[in-house]
Amino acid sequence: MFLTISTTGSPERPATDLGYLLHKHPEKTQAFSTSHGTAHVFYPEATAERCTAALLLEVDPVALVRRGQGKGRGGAPDAALAQYVNDRPYAASSLLAVALSGVFRSALKGQCVARPELPEEQRALRVEIPALPARGGAELVHRLFDPLGWDIVDVEPVPLDERFPEWGDSRYVRLVLEGELRLADALRQLYVLLPVLDDAKHYWIAPDEVDKLLRAGDGWLATHPENGLISSRYLARHKRLTQDALERLELVRLAEADGSEVEELDNAVDETRDTEERPVPLAVQRREAILAALRAAGAARVLDLGCGQGQLVQALLKEVSFTEIVGMDVSMRALNLAAKRLRLERMGERQSSRVRLLQGSLAYTDKRLAGYDAAVLSEVIEHLDVERLPALEYAVFGSARPRTVLVTTPNVEYNVRWETLPAGHVRHGDHRFEWTREEFRAWADGVANRHGYDVAYVPVGDDDPEVGPPTQMAVFTQTDTTAADTTDTTDTPKEGEAA
Ligand code: SAH
Repeated sequence: MFLTISTTGSPERPATDLGYLLHKHPEKTQAFSTSHGTAHVFYPEATAERCTAALLLEVDPVALVRRGQGKGRGGAPDAALAQYVNDRPYAASSLLAVALSGVFRSALKGQCVARPELPEEQRALRVEIPALPARGGAELVHRLFDPLGWDIVDVEPVPLDERFPEWGDSRYVRLVLEGELRLADALRQLYVLLPVLDDAKHYWIAPDEVDKLLRAGDGWLATHPENGLISSRYLARHKRLTQDALERLELVRLAEADGSEVEELDNAVDETRDTEERPVPLAVQRREAILAALRAAGAARVLDLGCGQGQLVQALLKEVSFTEIVGMDVSMRALNLAAKRLRLERMGERQSSRVRLLQGSLAYTDKRLAGYDAAVLSEVIEHLDVERLPALEYAVFGSARPRTVLVTTPNVEYNVRWETLPAGHVRHGDHRFEWTREEFRAWADGVANRHGYDVAYVPVGDDDPEVGPPTQMAVFTQTDTTAADTTDTTDTPKEGEAA
């Protein structure tokens, strides 16, 4: 059983980041023992331009029989032999899906402690599976993967025996998919859809399979047009469990369609998941802290400055109290990804009237940013050279002057707590600086003084008694409400503005 995942990259955004995302070093071959055999992970290629990770599961057919899971379905005479002679060892199936979730557990959850921003990024991915049992053939492959935005490059039936073409095709296909998405989403989709195509689950269906399905389906299954077929096959056609899954998916779908109901329904779904401990990724904790501060400030019209790929904009859209949401970024690429994530093109009028994406730089004043209730700069200041900060300060606090400004940035003191971060390293290759709590406060206190704001500090993430939280957030509230200085396109602050 074999599957490869490839990505492409550039010197600035190397493809070998795949190693971080999968938590498997590209220069090592690693083996993991799973309940069905040994899983090997290795990289046939690993350069900045192209990187491929391979997962090979060496199934132990005898172990399968002993566990009572490799039984043939034929009548009595074949059954004994079918236990040992079956397709399990080489066909990508539910067993490969189980191995995938075991070996790449953190990647499936979208966790990467060393590079917390990486899992959120969409990447050009290519998945190849040489032998995939597909009951329903190419047509079903399309119905399953097309709605998720995958490009099906190849779905070729594998002949029963190459030497005897007249025997026709086997029920296996060679599948090649390409798409631009987050690795965690891709893995979670494969985790569900491989056994769905196989349609022969080789392990016991326990009631918590519904939870697993909902967790793996987070963000894509509720709105998938084939979610009935997917749930039914994933749950081995178990009627009651399938119905349970579909009812819960419907709740999720309603919540996604109507922002006002999100919270209540989210909780309803979450209660059933509490049995398993899942650490909340720092990026999610940060978003929650930002949303809470914006609600507390009573902000309705919000700027997300340096919005990146639009995760916060997406979260803001789900709450009706945010009536106007503007995402701005200097990077066109980030904005394109944000537009895709938000499905701007397919958005209904009511939603699309609430949101706008702008290209612009925080190093320049910009009239379009005047008159908002709040501005968020989440993990942005550290991407600018320190010498540019006075310009940013002036553009935001001198010119745009929203009532509330939230600024988050890494707390460098916390870096010693990241297990996989080598000493003296910053968390992201593009960080120009990372500050201690004292350095951040010195800057933020200065900004507040110079521009008529109060400032409070909020820890985000585990607040370590010694080194503080991983993320620090400053909440600025305007005290001096005199009109903004709207002199445009000034890259340098007025005299006396800079520290
Ligand atoms: N706010 C997002 C993204 C943080 S990454 C989040 O919290 O996840 C930093 C972002 O700042 C990148 O998208 C980068 O393109 C943007 N950025 C860097 N310099 C900028 C500038 N001068 N003006 C506007 N955006 C900038």
